[in-house]
Amino acid sequence: MKRRLFLGLLGSAGAAGLMPSVGWGFPRLSLEAAPGLDRLELSRDEWRERLTPEQFEILRDHGTEPPFSSPLDKEWREGEYRCAGCDLLLFESAMKYDSGTGWPSYFEHVEGHLLSQLDFSLIWPRREYHCARCGGHQGHVFNDGPEPTGLRWCNNGLALKFVPATA
Ligand SMILES: [Zn+2]
Repeated sequence: MKRRLFLGLLGSAGAAGLMPSVGWGFPRLSLEAAPGLDRLELSRDEWRERLTPEQFEILRDHGTEPPFSSPLDKEWREGEYRCAGCDLLLFESAMKYDSGTGWPSYFEHVEGHLLSQLDFSLIWPRREYHCARCGGHQGHVFNDGPEPTGLRWCNNGLALKFVPATA
């Protein structure tokens, strides 16, 4: 019984793209909101009206979508990735790379538009990050990304809105 629970935890941790971070090597980041950023604060009911149930679970309840479920994982067009909750620009297409984890992944973010905090909801700490304007949960950041930052911003596709560049 205990063994099954432990394996279950390991399985879900692996599925959440966490295995590379074993060893407590989570990034230490001190992020600050961009000056003058207007905060968007809504009640949970207001968020429910604004978001789909799937988006609500991720953005407001720290959920994680299944890997390889988001079309944005394989989106390689030029464009912008904005917060699905408040439309704030979070990533640009030039910051995106294929991490192979099944989630849209970025090695860089728009400075001042993401904030982070430690998340102890699993058996080891993770570095969770959220939108600096609406506080919506976006994903987790790991230190196994490519150069030049070495970071992997592992984002839920449902928490993003892709806006293709106009040619
Ligand atoms: Zn937002």
